[in-house]
Amino acid sequence: MKVGDKMINRVNSMEVRKINRNAIYKFLYKRDPISIQEIAQSLNMSLPTVTQNIKELQERDLIIETGLFESTGGRKAKAITFNSQKYAIGLDITRNHVGIVLIDLSGKLLKNVRKQYPFVNSKEYFQGVGNLVKEFIDESTIESSKILGVGIALPAILSADKQTVNYATVIDFQGGSVKEFCEFIPYPCILSNDANAAGVAELWNEDDIQNVVYLSLNNSVGGSIIIGKNIFSGQNQRSGEFGHMTIVQDGRTCYCGQKGCVDVYCSAKILSDSTNGSIAEFFRLLKLNNEPQKTLWDEYLSHLVVVINNLRMLYDCNVIIGGYAGAYMDEYIEELRELVSKRNSFEVDGKYLHVCKYKLEATAVGAALQHVENFINNI
Ligand SMILES: [Zn+2]
Repeated sequence: MKVGDKMINRVNSMEVRKINRNAIYKFLYKRDPISIQEIAQSLNMSLPTVTQNIKELQERDLIIETGLFESTGGRKAKAITFNSQKYAIGLDITRNHVGIVLIDLSGKLLKNVRKQYPFVNSKEYFQGVGNLVKEFIDESTIESSKILGVGIALPAILSADKQTVNYATVIDFQGGSVKEFCEFIPYPCILSNDANAAGVAELWNEDDIQNVVYLSLNNSVGGSIIIGKNIFSGQNQRSGEFGHMTIVQDGRTCYCGQKGCVDVYCSAKILSDSTNGSIAEFFRLLKLNNEPQKTLWDEYLSHLVVVINNLRMLYDCNVIIGGYAGAYMDEYIEELRELVSKRNSFEVDGKYLHVCKYKLEATAVGAALQHVENFINNI
């Protein structure tokens, strides 16, 4: 054997060890406490390999023993699970607010606040965001060493490396950079597009769903296309901009400058403008059959079902409706399913349509999950 071969072998065996360790960790991440024997069996690994890796992961405080399983004769097996006590912060930056969340390693939402804090492209603004994050972390009493980082979701189209903003009209941040936030936030920062972040949150820990289209009905309409668990970004990071599909030829003028965009007909604002900006109040009055809410809703639905049917025709996968307006649609899902099925050329029902599971802060949670995902992938 030549020296070079030896080195390759050593690199390979290190790689294999890393792959095994990562597979064991990911396996534990998705499950209830389990024994070493069961891990070995499920992953088709030898008992010594699993035992060695478990020891390593335990030394790094990444997994914990939660007790012993009932014995089936012989020694009782230890119950092992992953240690969820690492944390990530997520920010949802909008035109007028900052939403902040704290999640643990499992993706569980532990704490959230939403503050009115209008976006201004200035040093004072970014310093203010840094202060909000600091206050939030202080209140949560989490040790800073256990915080993986801060994910920041923006209503903007990012560059391919996610370091800068290529396009933004909802907030005045075109050409902006992650560095502007980093200057005042003493943790690693990652930028995300807002709708993509929310889509990621919806699919987190949903092992059975590979492909989904997420339609975000916020004060601007956006979306996310997830194929094989990965976001399809498109050639210019502009995929899923469902808000700017033309739905009415020469229709009303959109903020983008074009006419007849989905955004003009399906943004949450169309509804909440009738109730001083409160979407909760809109749905409360709608339930009472109040006017003009009832008329607005009927008109809103007539456009929304066209959009949803078009998405189904394009992608042939589940469609999740979310955002401020989508979060209130559980009560109307059967009506919506019926309406979309009437438009469908192939299907007799609308079972593919779902309402988002995160009613609150999906975008900020998804932004925070970027850090969790990086952490898990690099174990
Ligand atoms: Zn538009």
